[in-house]
Amino acid sequence: MIYRPVVKDAKIVKSSKANDSFEVAVTLQDSAKCKLFVQLVNGELKPSSINRLQNVPCPICRKDYYCNCMERCIDEVFEQSVGLIQVPTV
Ligand SMILES: [Zn+2]
Repeated sequence: MIYRPVVKDAKIVKSSKANDSFEVAVTLQDSAKCKLFVQLVNGELKPSSINRLQNVPCPICRKDYYCNCMERCIDEVFEQSVGLIQVPTV
């Protein structure tokens, strides 16, 4: 079964001008929350890593402790989040 994340909400919670990186708080349709790290590379946003917050069991493997499942759908989460966040202009 392929898990398809649906991003309900995404907002920048932290930004670092020094290395043009942003920390994005993402809430998924199934109420799982993630922290997505994105970076501005040559004027283009790229996902660098994602962490699942342990507010609910993992929607993929159902574990309620640390797992790496979200790494597999980082691109999908990123693509959906980009439309929702407002990147501060430098
Ligand atoms: Zn998992």
